Amino acid sequence: MSTLPLRPGLEGETPYGAPELDVPVRLNVNENPYAPSEAVVASIRDAVAQAATGLNRYPDRDFPALRAALADYLDVESGVRVAPEQVWAANGSNEVMLHVLQAFGGPGRTCLTFTPTYSMYSEYARDTLTEYVTERRAVDFTLDLDVVREAIARTRPAVIILASPNNPTGTALPLDDVRAVLDAARGTGPLAADGARTDAVVVIDEAYGEFRRPGVPSALELLSDNPHLAVSRTMSKAFGMAGLRLGYLAASRELVDCLRVVRLPYHLSAVTQAAALAALSHREELMSQVASLRGERDDLVTWLREQGWNAHESDSNFVLFGPFEDRDAVFKALLERGVLIRVVGPDGYLRVCIGTPEEMGAFRTALTAVAGAPSSEERNA
Ligand SMILES: *Cc1c(COP(=O)(O)O)cnc(C)c1O
Repeated sequence: MSTLPLRPGLEGETPYGAPELDVPVRLNVNENPYAPSEAVVASIRDAVAQAATGLNRYPDRDFPALRAALADYLDVESGVRVAPEQVWAANGSNEVMLHVLQAFGGPGRTCLTFTPTYSMYSEYARDTLTEYVTERRAVDFTLDLDVVREAIARTRPAVIILASPNNPTGTALPLDDVRAVLDAARGTGPLAADGARTDAVVVIDEAYGEFRRPGVPSALELLSDNPHLAVSRTMSKAFGMAGLRLGYLAASRELVDCLRVVRLPYHLSAVTQAAALAALSHREELMSQVASLRGERDDLVTWLREQGWNAHESDSNFVLFGPFEDRDAVFKALLERGVLIRVVGPDGYLRVCIGTPEEMGAFRTALTAVAGAPSSEERNA
């Protein structure tokens, strides 16, 4: 029995994270399988060496150069121009999201999400003493707008988080649905101290935004009309820099200024800032793999369906597929063959992330060996 005064609510909690196993084919945490090229590595090395000469000083607290580079990147990627002051960054979008909950959540306040979705959201809420409420997504994993409107009216959330493309389902939300949520969020946030109405903050988590199919828009397009919208992105996935820990969001200046209040001073190290800037200067090269990963993903969906599995449409770099009578057994059997995927999402389903063509070949071979095609009864389960 521990005598440490662990805060109520944390008893029995374990640290979040997928198993970190050293196996040949790792398709479990949605990373980009391609390591940075020599040229990218050289740029990062030079930038970090330069930053090292000033490491006796604290880094730039508001990192304007990096925010400007991220704004440029968003312009190129989505055709939406935001000012550097509308960009915020931290050590992974996980930390960005924590800033959002620190600024807008808290005791007596509610964060609303729609499941199945990313399981870290509940941890940001727990860690900021924010009440966490989830409602279900529709059967196709989009939103049922009646459910959304009812939940917003009932819970008056301070923050609504929607992943699009969603993890673990791969589903992107139509912009009309995002617009409907933004409209429903107006005036339905918690009452301010003086009794005034507030607009609930709507976070669209576009961690997988770059993988969306052609013609699928980004919620960045809605920023100019919605000061209560934040669109979150990361360099961890499409950009191939998960080890860097750099996430960011775009929002109104007003919203970003609220986040600046709660960040720790100097939260983004000079080394991180330098490495991120260097990586962004190679954005074309780093993004060139995205098209082939998308193609590989679409081929995988087709292949899984040909084998008789249900595979969900995906706008991300992973595919949710099943159903399996015993998904844990399939997961283990794949692992014994050196292929690591993820047990996550609705009962009976598994998530596999897109790797290199060789890795996907290994996955197909292993899955064929460990699990025969389902019967039609199983498929309709
Ligand atoms: C991977 C992921 C993130 C990103 O996290 P980082 O902290 O930027 O690495 C955010 N949201 C979702 C839904 C994710 O799957």
